Amino acid sequence: EQFASLARDHIRAIEDWPEPGVTFRDITPLLADPAGLAGTVDALAGIAATWGPIDKVVGIEARGFVLAPPVAMRLGAGFVPVRKAGKLPAAVESRTYDLEYGSATVEIHRDAIVTGERVLVLDDVLATGGTLSAARDLVTGLGGRVVGQLVLVELAPLGGRARLGTQTPTAALVTY
Ligand code: 5GP
Repeated sequence: EQFASLARDHIRAIEDWPEPGVTFRDITPLLADPAGLAGTVDALAGIAATWGPIDKVVGIEARGFVLAPPVAMRLGAGFVPVRKAGKLPAAVESRTYDLEYGSATVEIHRDAIVTGERVLVLDDVLATGGTLSAARDLVTGLGGRVVGQLVLVELAPLGGRARLGTQTPTAALVTY
């Protein structure tokens, strides 16, 4: 598709960042391009719309915060943040998951999702799937129904799609 090649051209690979051996996919040039930004939001909302009505779009700190609100507005949905531990002020639900070295904890406000709401989980990049999987668990723990996981970029060799399983759909605009 035409947008996928524009996106691919504007996502840059940074070698050895944040540590040696890692190739980081930097989406900031895509977001800085007017057609890239609009096309990204349109394409994400277009995929989400095929998953039926959506009440809330959950965006994951930090780059998920950039994409989730405009996508939510297109869908007529609300935006809910999932944040790193200790950032949200009201009562939270927490989920800790393993990283390659150590662990990470993400949180959601307990009252952010109402039982039965249809929820889209959105982030910039799917790598090992630990982050999206934890976010999905937070939503289902609050009684939300996750309609799917959506990302701008999927790093396929890291196996995130398999970790997320097939009970809810996973989609990416660009796959490496
Ligand atoms: P996972 O939990 O799937 O291993 O990692 C996904 C999380 O790490 C996402 O929140 C994403 O922002 C970040 N991440 C991992 N690798 C990259 C990358 O190459 N580029 C960007 N932009 N984010 C990444």
